[in-house]
Amino acid sequence: MILFKQASQLFLYLEKKRAEGAHIGFVPTMGALHAGHISLIDQAKASCDLVVCSIFVNPTQFNNPNDLATYPRTPERDIQLLEEAGCHVLFHPEASDVYEPNEQKLSSADYGYFITVLEGAKRPGHFDGVVTILTKLFAWVEPNEVYFGQKDYQQCLVVKELIKRKFPEIKFHMCAILREKDGLAMSSRNVRLTAYERKLAPAIYETMLEVGSHWNANEWQEALATAQTKLSKEPFNLEYLTICNAETLEPLSTFEEKAILLVAVVLGNTRLIDNLMLP
Ligand code: AMP
Repeated sequence: MILFKQASQLFLYLEKKRAEGAHIGFVPTMGALHAGHISLIDQAKASCDLVVCSIFVNPTQFNNPNDLATYPRTPERDIQLLEEAGCHVLFHPEASDVYEPNEQKLSSADYGYFITVLEGAKRPGHFDGVVTILTKLFAWVEPNEVYFGQKDYQQCLVVKELIKRKFPEIKFHMCAILREKDGLAMSSRNVRLTAYERKLAPAIYETMLEVGSHWNANEWQEALATAQTKLSKEPFNLEYLTICNAETLEPLSTFEEKAILLVAVVLGNTRLIDNLMLP
């Protein structure tokens, strides 16, 4: 695996590879890698001959300075995992090489209703930061295909819209959520859970499955209300547990439409998100 710290050098290298006919797959991450991230690398490897991963804890997408300061960083282990996974290129820049001092974020405000709700409402400016960094990364890497996790479902909708508007030549993939054996969605933030919280955390997925098992016209509303109560009890602090239209994220109006259950819950000091396609 080749490591680049400077975008200009990455760009030159990839330009050469592209000229040689390489089909480039790209997996952007914030590091502290786990098997969920590696599953994206594996999927990229299956259809691309050159796989680029980026590790960059993007300051502009953090609306909480403490979350940014305490975001787990494990660069040596990440490099080892990527080597083992057969990733070809790692881009691991410093913030000062990515952003100009006082650079303004791009705006995602006109992306549609879906940008205004859930993570968009709870984390003001978050998606502007996502759009800003991905616009830079996509321009530097010029990937043929990009791989994102369903774990960040709303982010997938944002990336699809960004691609539609600015990078229509890129093929987008949304990859399945990898879970721990007990059902907890893998996340870099899981290491912040105390042993006690880690034991309780699988209740999030269990509760989602419970709603899923009542996914019929008569029962879903009551099942959702019961689940909301369950995930509002200490030490859980529920931000949202909602069923939306899977394309627009508008509140569900009819039972039949393509729907998704989305959750954000704070457990102790750790904010966790997860989702489940319905049915
Ligand atoms: P992050 O490093 O958290 O920004 O995540 C980088 C990419 O990995 C994003 O596209 C995430 O959606 C994806 N990802 C994170 N957790 C998982 C998981 N448990 N399973 C599959 N993909 C994941």
